[in-house]
Amino acid sequence: MHLPKFEYLEPGETSEVVSILGKYRGQCSIIAGGTDLLVAMKQRRQTPKYVISLAKVSELKQIREEAGMISIGPLATLEEVVASGPIQKKLPVLAQAAWEVGSPLLRTVATIGGNLCLDTRCRFYNQSEFWRGARPDCFKAGGVICHVTNKENTCYSTFSGDIAPALIALNAQIQLIGDGDERWLPLARFYTGVGRIPNLLAAGDNEVLTEIKVPLPADGTKGLYRKYRFRESIDFPLVGLAAILRVDPDDGICQEACLVFSGVGSRPVQAAEAENKLIGKRLNEDIIAAAAETAAGEVHPVKTDRVNPQFKKKIVKAMVREAFTELGGVKS
Ligand SMILES: Cc1cc2nc3c(=O)[nH]c(=O)nc-3n(C[C@H](O)[C@H](O)[C@H](O)COP(=O)(O)OP(=O)(O)OC[C@H]3O[C@@H](n4cnc5c(N)ncnc54)[C@H](O)[C@@H]3O)c2cc1C
Ligand code: SF4
Repeated sequence: MHLPKFEYLEPGETSEVVSILGKYRGQCSIIAGGTDLLVAMKQRRQTPKYVISLAKVSELKQIREEAGMISIGPLATLEEVVASGPIQKKLPVLAQAAWEVGSPLLRTVATIGGNLCLDTRCRFYNQSEFWRGARPDCFKAGGVICHVTNKENTCYSTFSGDIAPALIALNAQIQLIGDGDERWLPLARFYTGVGRIPNLLAAGDNEVLTEIKVPLPADGTKGLYRKYRFRESIDFPLVGLAAILRVDPDDGICQEACLVFSGVGSRPVQAAEAENKLIGKRLNEDIIAAAAETAAGEVHPVKTDRVNPQFKKKIVKAMVREAFTELGGVKS
């Protein structure tokens, strides 16, 4: 498959990126590592007239520890995230999630910002133009009918990024800069939950993600990222889970629990009711089992990949049980 024609622009500063986005509003795509965008362009899912590379914007690349937080530039590669000392030591759940993306080769070019801005996926949409041509365009591709639900004007394509669950569980904030506008928001609010327009940038088209800030977790916080997929070597998550737990060392009571999933909805899904089953309790097998059951009820996957939604719920249940048994050191 070959790329469609486009004009390649390579600004050296964020302000230039923003002014190009404003000038050619609606006609641009930003490229970071290109591991997702170039596939989308080859499959004619995206055909921008202008491709704006961030490669020369060195200010977007740094990873540094500041007072009480770690700041990560969106252009940091996943390999750099995995290898970063402060991230390994203080945000191991993020290092684990980054390590789970794709393959070592992919992680040398794929960026953390590109991962957060990943489009939602669907078995009817993430295909070549030729493959898609066998039936009318689905709603996301510009048609009317959703081939998954057979309903009009709906899209349930699935968010399948590995990094967002970890960063949401860590309460990360992101900075977006647009024409004359600059804002910070919790990463969780970046995602719309709408399959066709999955995040605020997809909706607006004139902002750039410029920084990610992660507050350092309280002492004693443990976390892990688990991923269920078909191919262990290289694959998107069918279900991904970022889990965080903090237990009071004196009385063993759970002070903080957080569960955020990928692969089970059009946005990363936080299982708040399941968290409430854990917080304030001394963890044991029964409490963890109840939280796992609750989490399975809080996710509503649809069949946008090869897996039956009921099977995904079973995976969710098993993953929650396994994650909190391990994090809580519970004997089973
Ligand atoms: C074979 C293969 C396997 C993969 N496996 C996984 C996997 O297991 N898990 C997973 O999560 N992903 C996976 N991916 C998807 C992708 O490689 C990663 O998500 C990667 O991190 C994307 O980063 P990138 O820098 O290459 O993004 P790009 O392709 O450059 O960009 C992706 C999107 O983000 C936008 N964008 C990028 N940076 C910014 C910014 N700073 N501001 C605004 N918009 C921006 C782009 O416009 C584009 O829409 C896989 C891809 C391939 C090809
Ligand atoms: S969920 Fe429906 S509308 Fe969305 S990409 Fe898949 S087939 Fe298209």
